[in-house]
Amino acid sequence: MILYLGLGANLGEREKTLRRAIERIKKIPATKLLRVSSFYETEPWGVVGQPHYLNAAVKIFTEREPLDLLDELQRIEAELGRVRRQRWEARLIDIDVLFGAEISHERLTVPHKFLFDRDFALIPLMEIFPTFKAKLHGDHVIHFAGSPTDFRLKLVACVDKTFGLGHAGELLFKIPADLKNFRRLTLGHTIIFGRRTLETFPKRQPLDGRRNILLSRTQKNFSGAEVVCSVEELFGVLDSAEENFVIGGAEIFNELIPYAAEIFLTVVDAQADADTFFPAVDEFILRDVKNFDGFEFRRYTRG
Ligand code: ATP
Ligand code: CA
Ligand code: CA
Repeated sequence: MILYLGLGANLGEREKTLRRAIERIKKIPATKLLRVSSFYETEPWGVVGQPHYLNAAVKIFTEREPLDLLDELQRIEAELGRVRRQRWEARLIDIDVLFGAEISHERLTVPHKFLFDRDFALIPLMEIFPTFKAKLHGDHVIHFAGSPTDFRLKLVACVDKTFGLGHAGELLFKIPADLKNFRRLTLGHTIIFGRRTLETFPKRQPLDGRRNILLSRTQKNFSGAEVVCSVEELFGVLDSAEENFVIGGAEIFNELIPYAAEIFLTVVDAQADADTFFPAVDEFILRDVKNFDGFEFRRYTRG
């Protein structure tokens, strides 16, 4: 089932906590993080004298039972330091199920019973659910600079017609026109990649003329490049005024596609014997296709 969750934090390092919570939601078993909204700075609702909140919404697909999922969300809240005393008090993190099912249980009401009264929940939700319509109330809700969406991540890959990416640690194709296109897109900008992709670079050296960022939990150093060990840390070092290209491999695409704004795919008209695949692009709209002999360039964007 597809569910929309709302997150809020008004104590501690709010931005970090939201990022951490989102990374943990991604790791819930049998659950996929599909999309992440911007962060919004909002005024406390229903109480006075509390610090402002940061709010966000995420879209997930889950095979878990809703009450099971609620347990997981409450576990994440607890792990991030939430102590539940009374309703609507200031908190490090709050994760609610907003929308996506009809549930009426003493522990879980969906849609959330105050959803339609709260701009702080509706505005992030509408950002990631463009066909969702609701009347707003004019509350103080402003886009927070430094949201993960501000980095406008772009994913670039070359795949076969089944979206196969690689085989035995190697890329499936080396097509001069594709390599040229890759260079044209990324030169002068930032590239983000995983350790296995680094192994495919010529002489295992950083790619010239670009800011190289290795995202790896195991490798600590890479001469000529920056190394970050988590998505959260990645967002701490990226520049939102830059163009930030995610170039692979499969695991890194999977990690970062919920945050992506644009995808450039070279689709080769062949079926190779792939063992890694590019993630599904259902959340994106195909904007243009350029046909060549044996392959095409596709560009997708968010809704
Ligand atoms: P509000 O529900 O008004 O947003 P809150 O988030 O501060 O207030 P909590 O203390 O976090 O309230 O949660 C109280 C209880 O609400 C939870 O233990 C949970 O069982 C229940 N609950 C009911 N519906 C939902 C929902 N849609 N999402 C999350 N919790 C819910
Ligand atoms: Ca709440
Ligand atoms: Ca709650």
